[in-house]
Amino acid sequence: MSLSEFDIIQQYFSPLTTSRADVLTGIGDDCALLAPQPGKILAISTDTLVSGIHFLPDVDPVALGHKALAVNLSDLAAMGATPCWVSLALTLPEVNENWLRQFSRGFAALAEQYELQLIGGDTTRGPLAITITVHGQLDPEQVLKRSGAKNGDLVCISGKLGEAALALKKILNGEPAAEDLKEALDYPIPRVHTGRALAGIASACIDISDGLLADLGHICEASSLKAEIRKDDIPAAVDVSDGQEYIETVLSGGDDYELCFTVPESRRNLLENVQQQTGVAITVIGRMIEGQGIEIVDAPDLKLTIAANTGYLHFK
Ligand code: ADP
Ligand code: MG
Repeated sequence: MSLSEFDIIQQYFSPLTTSRADVLTGIGDDCALLAPQPGKILAISTDTLVSGIHFLPDVDPVALGHKALAVNLSDLAAMGATPCWVSLALTLPEVNENWLRQFSRGFAALAEQYELQLIGGDTTRGPLAITITVHGQLDPEQVLKRSGAKNGDLVCISGKLGEAALALKKILNGEPAAEDLKEALDYPIPRVHTGRALAGIASACIDISDGLLADLGHICEASSLKAEIRKDDIPAAVDVSDGQEYIETVLSGGDDYELCFTVPESRRNLLENVQQQTGVAITVIGRMIEGQGIEIVDAPDLKLTIAANTGYLHFK
C-alpha cells in the first residue's frame, strides 16, 4: 500500500532532529511559530535542487539529503549566521520508502550537528526536486555582506578548491573518482563555524557555490572594486597542469562551498585564531584594489581578466 502525503510526513519527517525551546509550534499546523531571540537579526535563505540539473538522478539519497541541507547552511555561513530552523519542500515522482529513509537520514545527520530543527515544509508529486529554506540568527554587528570590501583588503578563502568539480568531471567521463574527491562532491561541509568566527574580522564574505571567479566577482561588483589574485597562492585540490582544466575545476568549477572573504590588512593577524578555533585552513590569495573584475597576476598564460559571472547561468 502506498503512503499518503501525511504518512510520509509522519513517518519520515516529523521525528527528525532536535526539538528546540524557541519552536512554539513545529510540523503539524498551518504555520510554524518561532520565538527568535530579542535583538537578533534573522537570516533566511532558500535553495532548490532539481534532479538532472543540480544532482545526478542516480545519486545516493543519503548524500543528497546531506547536500541539499549543506548548500543552504553554506549560505547562512557566508553571512556569519547561526542556523536554527529549516523547512523542506519535497516534490517526489513516486513514494519510494527506501529513498525516503535514506534521504531523511542524510538530512537529519547534518541537521543534528547544528541543533537545527525541521519546522515544516510541503510534500507534492512531480519531477524530483528539493527546496530547503534555512533560518538563522545573528547579532546586528556580526553581519557579513558581499558589499563591505575596501580598497587594500586581503582576499582569502577557506579550505581548498576544485575537488568537487574534478570528481564530477571524472564521473561524467565514466572514470573512477578518488574517494576524497567523491566525498567533497557528495558531502560538502558548510563552513558555519568559520563564518561565525569571521564576524567582526572579515569586511565582506560569500560562499563559493558557482566557482571562485563567479563568486569573488560578486564581491567585486557589490563592493565596486577589483580583485588581484595569485594563482600560485590558491590552494587547489590536486595538481592540475592543464590550463583549461585548471580554469574549469579550480577557478570556476563550483560546488566547493568554501568561503571567500576579504579582511583589512590590520586584522591579518586574527586569521590565525580563526584557523585554530575552527580547524579549517585560511589562505590569503590576493588583494582588493581600485577597478573592476578579477585579474590573475602571476599566470599570464591563463590570460584572464574576468569581468565576473562565469558561473552556471540557468537562463542564459
Ligand atoms: P497545508 O495544507 O496547511 O499546507 P500540509 O498538508 O502541506 O499543510 O502539511 C502539513 C504539515 O506538515 C505542515 O505543518 C507542514 O509544514 C508539514 N510538512 C509538509 N511536508 C513536509 C516535509 N516534507 N517536511 C517537513 N514538514 C512537512
Ligand atoms: Mg502544504
